[in-house]
Amino acid sequence: MTNDVVIVGGGIVGLATAYQLIEKNPRLRITVIEKEDRVATHQTGHNSGVIHSGLYYKPGSLKATNCINGYHQLIQFCETHEVPYELCGKIVVATRENQLPILAGLHERGIQNKLDGIRKLTVEQMREIEPHVAGLAGLWVPQTGIIDYTVVCQKLEQLILEKGAKIHFNEKVTSVSTVHGISTVVTTKGSHETKLIINCAGLYSDKVAQLTESEEINLRITPFRGEYYELIPEKHHLVRNLIYPVPDPNFPFLGVHFTRMIQGGVEAGPNAVMAFGRESYKKTQVNWKELGETLAWPGFRKVALKYWQTGIGEFYRSFSKAAFTKALQELIPEIREEDLKPGGAGVRAQACDRTGGLLDDFAILENQQAINICNAPSPAATSSLSIGSTVSDLALKRF
Ligand SMILES: Cc1cc2nc3c(=O)[nH]c(=O)nc-3n(C[C@H](O)[C@H](O)[C@H](O)COP(=O)(O)OP(=O)(O)OC[C@H]3O[C@@H](n4cnc5c(N)ncnc54)[C@H](O)[C@@H]3O)c2cc1C
Repeated sequence: MTNDVVIVGGGIVGLATAYQLIEKNPRLRITVIEKEDRVATHQTGHNSGVIHSGLYYKPGSLKATNCINGYHQLIQFCETHEVPYELCGKIVVATRENQLPILAGLHERGIQNKLDGIRKLTVEQMREIEPHVAGLAGLWVPQTGIIDYTVVCQKLEQLILEKGAKIHFNEKVTSVSTVHGISTVVTTKGSHETKLIINCAGLYSDKVAQLTESEEINLRITPFRGEYYELIPEKHHLVRNLIYPVPDPNFPFLGVHFTRMIQGGVEAGPNAVMAFGRESYKKTQVNWKELGETLAWPGFRKVALKYWQTGIGEFYRSFSKAAFTKALQELIPEIREEDLKPGGAGVRAQACDRTGGLLDDFAILENQQAINICNAPSPAATSSLSIGSTVSDLALKRF
């Protein structure tokens, strides 16, 4: 027996889980297995870099509790380990009459979630904070911040290595077998015996979960690409910090926003288009096998039937810079197409169940040999230290 715990995935959730486990029990033998050559290569390294305050989430949900706890733990972590971050605050802007009740609901929710300093804004007050913004009313959320999550992961990597954990890069987990409570995790480079597997494989978390289950699991990851533009340097002055639209309650992850980045520059986006592969960062990248699997999943077909109009709108904005710009002009009318240059893209791992439900909350599924984190979309980067703490408590009960 060489390991107590094998963690699959060197994104922020896997690394934060390793960190919390080793903090709570330094004697545990932990190995993190990552298929890429460094940490934070997928969702964690391609996100908006926002430290979310916990404004949107249903009180008592895993998202709400872990985001709020994770927020405070992340700030503490950054202070202790000198990771740069900035609490610059954000405004949420209602641009249409029908968004006003939703904005009022968000204000209520922010109060229920005990956010400090959250307050309603008139148009004049919004313009004092963001002079170029347009809208009917706003909400000021001072706790929101910006950070580079790759830098957080590099620090976590350093700390867990110092405490004796191992990280194996360029090693992909391909199968798992379990005999008398001991699992053998087979990878493209060899195998690792362990008492417990913790699956933090992000876009492949359903696949890895399936390796640990005898029955077919009831969810699939559906990949949604989020594409960004960047403001050209001469237009950075149009955005001081973070400007968000009121979310559509049916699609809380839709709606492009403006984000000042901690490393400099301003991003606009992301949209949300179905990706034709789990790691398809470009429109032209198609993984036929993965696309076929997504289309074959009954839950995805139900989602597609229900929301095809929204999907087409997102595809249109993906191919038409003019349409993308129009969406941004709702928030800042002065923005012109020529003010935007192509930015990066990220792919969200969104779990979808068999009946066509897009899982809203984080999903942590346990079986005898594994703890599978099967739905960890935004704000999982903000929440990572809290998710890691929750999962490590579940793990420690087993030793
Ligand atoms: C466009 C976008 C914007 C976002 N913005 C924000 C934001 O501003 N704030 C926020 O809090 N959250 C945000 N999120 C969400 C956040 O980035 C993710 O929730 C978080 O990064 C998930 O981390 P993870 O470790 O679960 O997944 P990942 O970072 O994807 O890590 C999973 C790792 O597992 C590895 N892996 C997969 N399969 C295997 C295998 N078989 N063997 C070995 N390794 C494997 C992968 O290579 C990968 O490195 C955003 C996400 C996206 C996509």
